[in-house]
Amino acid sequence: MPELPEVEVTRLGLEPHVTGAKILELEVRQPRLRWPLLADLGQRLAGQRILRLERRAKYLLLHTPAGALIIHLGMTGSLRVLTQARVPGPHDHVDLVLEQQGQRQWLRFNDPRRFGAMLWQPTGQAIVGAPPVLDTLGLEPFDERFGGAWLYSHTRTHALAIKPLLLAGRIVVGVGNIYASESLFRAGIHPQRAAGRIGAARYEGLAQSIREVLQEAITAGGSSLRDYVNAQGKTGTFQQVHQVYAREGQPCLRCQRPIRQIRQGQRSTWFCSHCQR
Ligand SMILES: [Zn+2]
Repeated sequence: MPELPEVEVTRLGLEPHVTGAKILELEVRQPRLRWPLLADLGQRLAGQRILRLERRAKYLLLHTPAGALIIHLGMTGSLRVLTQARVPGPHDHVDLVLEQQGQRQWLRFNDPRRFGAMLWQPTGQAIVGAPPVLDTLGLEPFDERFGGAWLYSHTRTHALAIKPLLLAGRIVVGVGNIYASESLFRAGIHPQRAAGRIGAARYEGLAQSIREVLQEAITAGGSSLRDYVNAQGKTGTFQQVHQVYAREGQPCLRCQRPIRQIRQGQRSTWFCSHCQR
């Protein structure tokens, strides 16, 4: 499943190709994604110019003067730019036909499992025909307001363990299962510790660790930027060296004791019971 780093690398890969492009039309072969595509989405988009491509949590926002096309990759979605017409495959559900510097190109959305979404938010209004998915999101981890003080002040009343609280995404977004386990290990914080009982200094360390693990993943994906043009868009997770994730039974890189695996909620957590308190 694409996590924040994969979505950010998708944004970096697509941005130079779609920014400034004029939208000619929308070709929809399968409108039934997580929410059905608006019947008049093509009419709303036709003639609009793409001003910029933004990422918010795991959503990509194609901004136009009339509004934003909000795209989520779901479990298996991917986007790529084609500079030549190509026969669509069975899971190539939507094409955004663009004109960029006099050349026709296609932004193609592929999603075998169809948990992805393509939503429309008119400028200054709410998303049409779907929940306000952007409204409950926490801060971006690379936002300058995010840091130890932010984590500390937003967890004082929480009896919930820190790891599921990070996963919930209401305090900070983008800390998925891999990145929660990895950043808690780096910060030396036990994943089952009550969030309200972690001190300010330890939250400083955690905020720094969250930024580090996410930035390392984005950097690892940077080598795949060219794969977003005339190739199969990438999905899945970048091959990163994990310190605890999926390493149960293997020696901790700090203390050599075996890494443990537990369940928290419906998710696996990996940690070192000696190094994380
Ligand atoms: Zn250890």
